[in-house]
Amino acid sequence: MISFVGAGPGDVDLITIKGRRLLEKADMVIYAGSLVSERHLEFCKEGCQFYNSAKMTLEEVIEKMEDAYRKGLQVVRLHTGDPTIYGAIREQMDLLERKGIDFQAISGVSSFTAACSAINREFTLPEVSQTVILTRIEGRTGVPEEEDLEKLAAHRASMALFLSIKEIDRVVEKLKRGYGREDVPVAVVYKATWEDEKIIMGTLKDIRHKVEKEGITKMAQILVGDFIDGDYERSKLYDPQFSHEYRSGNR
Ligand code: SAH
Repeated sequence: MISFVGAGPGDVDLITIKGRRLLEKADMVIYAGSLVSERHLEFCKEGCQFYNSAKMTLEEVIEKMEDAYRKGLQVVRLHTGDPTIYGAIREQMDLLERKGIDFQAISGVSSFTAACSAINREFTLPEVSQTVILTRIEGRTGVPEEEDLEKLAAHRASMALFLSIKEIDRVVEKLKRGYGREDVPVAVVYKATWEDEKIIMGTLKDIRHKVEKEGITKMAQILVGDFIDGDYERSKLYDPQFSHEYRSGNR
């Protein structure tokens, strides 16, 4: 069996119990070395084979998986955060399926929620935003025109931007046009949950300058929206006046 496992954002304790158990039993681990902490590999048994996929092509990864699978070995493909978001797992799954190789995917803690926890905020606030947009600015990988950052920003929903920090100039320009104002709060979280995590708080007006000053060019989440700063309504769920299935209110 091949298991695509989410390693979580960095802190090795943020993998699921299921993911850790699979790592402990694995005969081979292929990990995304550019973003996954190598400390996860310390939980593997002796003799486990390790491959850093940062140095491999898709075909080489699949070849290693297939060899191991045919020998009846347990393989963990360790991806950063949650494997279903910018994990490039679909292309691996499709090739495995064509070869008749069994696989499963195990969820992980994505860096977008880890980054929001790092700043002690909640994406979804009553009367502020009830929607989270996960996206990125186009780079070498294109983004469909309808999903252009400016268009998405026009919704004024809470946003988490992956893979975009290098392009902070263009990100800010597009967001300003989309939101139609400059005072929108922004938090840049570099290496959320790692020991060298950094948090930069600002607005669309000053965040670019702050990010450049800190020299952050990779591995960061850009969180955007009024959920970061400003007023919100109390939740109905915990309102003493409000009854629901599990609790009767005062009225
Ligand atoms: N599957 C991953 C995302 C992989 S794409 C997940 O669910 O988090 C890689 C991008 O994720 C990086 O460019 C960065 O934007 C973000 N990222 C990954 N780990 C991060 C971390 N610990 N802190 C902040 N951003 C992170």
